Amino acid sequence: MKLCFGSFMTVLKLCKPKSVKQKLLCGTVLLSVAPLYDIRNEDGTVHDLLICRSNLSPQVTDKAPTADAQETVGYFKKNILPLLDANKMKSGILALKDIIAKDNEIKPDVVVDRASGKTKADILKQTSFALEEFLAGLFLYTASVVNNTAGKSFIGNIKAEYIESFDDRSDEIALVNTSSKPTTTALTVQEGAQIDVVGVETLITISDQIAKLMVFEKPEKDMLVTLLTESNGKCLNCGNALGIPVRNKLPSSKCEVVYLTLSATESQGYENAVALCEGACAKEVEVMSVDEKKALLASKRRCAEIQAFIERTESIRFPKEIETVLREIHKVKNLSELEKTDLKDLVEIEKKIHEPYLKDKIDASMVRLYKKVKDICGRLEQEIGFDTQMFGEMMKSAQILLSSGLKDKPEITDPQEFVIGLLVEKLSSQVGQQHKDACDIIIGYLVKRCDLFNENAKQS
Ligand SMILES: [Zn+2]
Repeated sequence: MKLCFGSFMTVLKLCKPKSVKQKLLCGTVLLSVAPLYDIRNEDGTVHDLLICRSNLSPQVTDKAPTADAQETVGYFKKNILPLLDANKMKSGILALKDIIAKDNEIKPDVVVDRASGKTKADILKQTSFALEEFLAGLFLYTASVVNNTAGKSFIGNIKAEYIESFDDRSDEIALVNTSSKPTTTALTVQEGAQIDVVGVETLITISDQIAKLMVFEKPEKDMLVTLLTESNGKCLNCGNALGIPVRNKLPSSKCEVVYLTLSATESQGYENAVALCEGACAKEVEVMSVDEKKALLASKRRCAEIQAFIERTESIRFPKEIETVLREIHKVKNLSELEKTDLKDLVEIEKKIHEPYLKDKIDASMVRLYKKVKDICGRLEQEIGFDTQMFGEMMKSAQILLSSGLKDKPEITDPQEFVIGLLVEKLSSQVGQQHKDACDIIIGYLVKRCDLFNENAKQS
């Protein structure tokens, strides 16, 4: 085993909620020491770091050795912990300890936790951890002294099962809260200096104010990015479009992070956070009943689940000609003089679509639109080189990826309708929500063309 940035980050990745994207988590970690190096939107860069294919950018490795350890700890507490699943962290710590123990190149007296100054030998004995300190300390170590590509031959061992193998030992780890510790501020009084001049009370007030200033909007902003991404840019309370953050730019509509705590003792974190319209909807929360809050939290989880499903198809990007096709379909979909198709002339889908409501819906839409969509696709194949066959195959791959994730979701009672909904969501997330109706139509067309859900038809 090797403790490198890739293995460190892979452990964190396996301890995040599904809805937090790995690029967001990894990018946010790197921003701790290199505030101008933002790769939170770069899948490829993050992926290569996680599998130890590439080394960290000099923008990170130049800064890490001299980074202020306590500032980095504060940053991890505010920005990284909210992106992790607290339930998994004890197993995550045990995994990191195991990796450190098995890394034969680290001698026992080497300082591995650069925040607390603990050596390898200290860490192997350690049972009580301040999470932000431990993670910040290991990150600084990996970014300062380890060549990331050196971990390449070991990184494949760090999988979900590896982390889970520590689950039944989680009692060995105690997590300690550092929030009761006094905040370390830049204020230090040199020995012999005349404290009396300003007075101790003034000093405390100033140091309090500095501590407040240090809690600037950034952590909330990262949480907002996560929440808006998983809610598909909508306010969960009223459905208003707030926008999805793109490349670090926040949406123009005003929104804020609100915590739906159900009791006074419940702590605030990712699990109970939602993004709502600033002012209006956010204020309503104050007077909401427990049941109303629970309903809102349920829709938060549903949205997050949908986004996690769609993330499975992240590698699929449809050719951009599809936008023209959808625009054309959008234009004609409400025309009254469309030439209808007799249902008997269309492929019978009863054997492959088992949900009657869905079958009727597709049939009804295709009786009206099948010919028109076929014409549009045929014409655009000639004019702009749109490849209907390839598009159908890509959709099919997406459908298989999404369907395979449904196996352990018995609570979803209409799986085919659910998958089609996800395919529409996937396509409209690429081409823009204004074409959602057209996305719905073209997917019905692919079902009728037998690009989608065709496995059962073949069997019979
Ligand atoms: Zn709202």
